[in-house]
Amino acid sequence: MPQKLLTLLSIAGSDNIGGAGIQADIRAGSSLGLHVVTALTSVTAQNSRALVDSISVPSDMLKNQLDAIMEDIVPDAVKIGMIGSVENLNVISKFLDILPNKIPIVVDPVLYVTVSQPSLLKFELDSLEIRKGYLNDIFPKATIVTPNLDELKMLTGETIPSALTLVKLHAKAAVIKGGHAKKDQIEDNLLIGGEKMIKVSHPRINCHNLHGTGCVYSSFIASYLALGFDIKSAFQATERKMQTIINKSCFYDLGISSYGPLNINENYQTGS
Ligand code: PLP
Repeated sequence: MPQKLLTLLSIAGSDNIGGAGIQADIRAGSSLGLHVVTALTSVTAQNSRALVDSISVPSDMLKNQLDAIMEDIVPDAVKIGMIGSVENLNVISKFLDILPNKIPIVVDPVLYVTVSQPSLLKFELDSLEIRKGYLNDIFPKATIVTPNLDELKMLTGETIPSALTLVKLHAKAAVIKGGHAKKDQIEDNLLIGGEKMIKVSHPRINCHNLHGTGCVYSSFIASYLALGFDIKSAFQATERKMQTIINKSCFYDLGISSYGPLNINENYQTGS
């Protein structure tokens, strides 16, 4: 009797240079042995120097993709990345309402797209409506949310952002990724129910190929949850995996500004 193939559903935008977005999610989920099905929310035109254009997929089309998947395949976990528009946010919110309860949902809020170096060139996706939608309609339905410090600041409106505000008011659990703090020691914190806190701290690895780190991180957590890990073990496994991958991502260049993708499958080939 054939066994069921474990599946990750990624709802995200396309990054045409393959570092972030749905392309990163497919590579991350596949590297852990999952089949990845996708619902595309937006299409970006970008390279390692600039984001040239971005357009959101019409919300009817997003709904059709999700309906088509669900008629056929029930995913073992869902990862939500770039949403693209308020209309898409509403479609996703309704989709989460009909999703069977046991399916883990990981939400990585994408409030801006970074190209080149983080925070040098940003394309803002943020609006009050999107922020409110994340907080009130999407986060409460998530198993875990994974903002970075900048996104946390934007979402909570606090200059010194409090992760507890986010978790207490809106989400069941959150990983607050500390990589955007200008510190040599990076701290990532897991909060569950606003109570437990597990801190993982590690020295910053000076690597230039970090495009899509947030997408990969959240896809790994979703994949580990799909594989049956609990939240704490999925967080710890993801932290270990990210360390290994970032360490193996420093030896190649891609593109003019050399802000390349992570070496997810650990076997990139280089040429002259
Ligand atoms: N989603 C898309 C389609 C993107 O192009 C990007 C960045 O380029 C992101 C998400 C966010 O990427 P990161 O994981 O680097 O925050």
